Amino acid sequence: MRYFSIILFIIFSNFQVVAGLNYIQSDTVNQNLSDKAKLSFFTGISHEFRTPLTLIQSPLETLIKKQSENSETKNVYELMLSNTNKLKNLINQILDLRKLDDNELQINIQNLDVVKYVNDLINSFEHYCNKYNCNLYYNSNYSSAYISFDFQKFEIMLSNLISNAFKYNVDNGDIIITLVITDKIMKIEVKDTGIGIPDEAQNEIFNRYSRLTEYYDYREGSGIGLAYVKEMAELLNGSLSLESKHHQGSVFSLNFNIGYAKIVNEKPCSLQIKSNNAVKNIDYINNTTNDKEHTLLLVDDNEELINYMHSIFINNYNILIAKNGNEAIQIAESEIPDLIISDVMMPEMDGFELCTLLKNNRITNHIPVILLSAKNNNKAIIDGYNTGADDYISKPFNSDILELKVQNLLILKEKLRNKFSFNIDTEKTIYKNSDQEFINNCIEIINKNIQNPAFTAIKLSDELNLTQRTFYRKIKALTNKTPGDFVKSYKMEFAALLLKKQNLKIYEVASEVGYEDVVSFSNTFKKYHGELPSKFN
Ligand code: ADP
Repeated sequence: MRYFSIILFIIFSNFQVVAGLNYIQSDTVNQNLSDKAKLSFFTGISHEFRTPLTLIQSPLETLIKKQSENSETKNVYELMLSNTNKLKNLINQILDLRKLDDNELQINIQNLDVVKYVNDLINSFEHYCNKYNCNLYYNSNYSSAYISFDFQKFEIMLSNLISNAFKYNVDNGDIIITLVITDKIMKIEVKDTGIGIPDEAQNEIFNRYSRLTEYYDYREGSGIGLAYVKEMAELLNGSLSLESKHHQGSVFSLNFNIGYAKIVNEKPCSLQIKSNNAVKNIDYINNTTNDKEHTLLLVDDNEELINYMHSIFINNYNILIAKNGNEAIQIAESEIPDLIISDVMMPEMDGFELCTLLKNNRITNHIPVILLSAKNNNKAIIDGYNTGADDYISKPFNSDILELKVQNLLILKEKLRNKFSFNIDTEKTIYKNSDQEFINNCIEIINKNIQNPAFTAIKLSDELNLTQRTFYRKIKALTNKTPGDFVKSYKMEFAALLLKKQNLKIYEVASEVGYEDVVSFSNTFKKYHGELPSKFN
């Protein structure tokens, strides 16, 4: 849905130009018009989208046929095609509603086996079970029953209810679809164990373009689906009803007078599609080889967008994936990636909260974060920077620009860490506060132990309460030095200062910085400063 809104937005933006509306900048549209007004304007020109969409869809289908199995390009084309289809479905629904308003909508009756029809439709949702980690159950009181009905509209209605049941469900939730046919009536129920709808909002959701963004704003959508289902149900002499409890789940029921049903097989039937858990897919990606210089962590609950970003970066970076904020924190702490790109709209913990947590965590606060968001108004951008984000990119994004931003942030970090020096006597700092604080903390611990020959970088990581690996990655990211070099360099700087400013003998200075053996001290000193300690006296 999110990706589809990206394409929607691309096409919408292009149309401002085509339709001679280029004086309406997308920013202004976003900011000045309410969602409702924006979409009703959109309704007016929806039919203009059909031809260009067909001209995207057909060549894409041709291109897909030409690609060999499993090629990277084929995956990208398939992503484009599936989102073009989503966009087409949405536009068809908008146009149907428009025709309904103008009394021009036609009803197309077919006589088909409704049990099988619903069964086939449900099977087409199999990939949703993995994507949303939910189980799907279907029960019908008969195994085969023929009815005369507008199956085209029925399919769109039912698809809307089922995709909402996934979209507004919880992790590891259930969706139960029950079809009951009697002589005169067909009733189909779509029940979910999801987030439910508060009492006070239960009427509102059937209005066109109405969305409950104040309760859960990370799921993108258009607010067309339920209005379509309700209005079409009424057109087909039926009704749509809802029973729901906030935080417990919802049941949407469609009831139709069908006049007559020809029952072919009276036995009840059922179908189950269990999720085989999308995590597998993510693990697979996270296990790829670590042969590139920099590692990126991509955070998004939308698998399609993750796959797309993965395809952009995989050739030049090691890639880690997290599908929500909690996972991102865990991976960031254990792997210490060089940069994090996170979506803003995610369930449980949004990108703003994630960024705030990362920037307030001493292990991860040095890692640059880029936030990606569909919201491109000034307030959203300012909110993003206020969380400490290093960059904010609005969707739809240009992949070249995203790549360049990543490159630039990494180069900036690289320059900074290559400039690292202890500046023992000048106190000059090139770091932001949290990074300087970390380095100061390390120096304080080294200072306390500086005369102890048994003090090592391992002891330093212990004192900081960090694993050796975490400390290695953190100090390397900040200073481009290994922990051992970091400790040694500090000692050598301190030794030079002592030699210059205090009237100490070389063996005394060696002992001051934890060297029992003067020769070894002198050698290390020469390697570091290029001169023997005697030159500094
Ligand atoms: P969309 O999903 O594109 O926002 P819909 O018209 O399908 O539009 O739904 C309208 C609103 O009703 C949704 O934005 C959501 O807030 C709420 N809603 C729909 N289905 C469910 C559901 N199964 N559980 C909880 N909320 C739902």
